[in-house]
Amino acid sequence: MARVRRCKANGCFNMVELPKHYCAKHADQERVYAPRDKQATHRYNTVTRNRDDNKRGQYNFYRTK
Ligand SMILES: [Zn+2]
Repeated sequence: MARVRRCKANGCFNMVELPKHYCAKHADQERVYAPRDKQATHRYNTVTRNRDDNKRGQYNFYRTK
């Protein structure tokens, strides 16, 4: 029998098989939660955004208050 856990979406009690965190209905949230995608976002922030001085300047400007 497959290991299951409750869907992590708020108010959702569907059971999902590991290693998924969300049921089919909330599968779009899995993308946000997955560590792999967190790394992709980090890579985007550190590499793509800083690939040249102009872009880095823009990014730093966005981060200021
Ligand atoms: Zn769900």
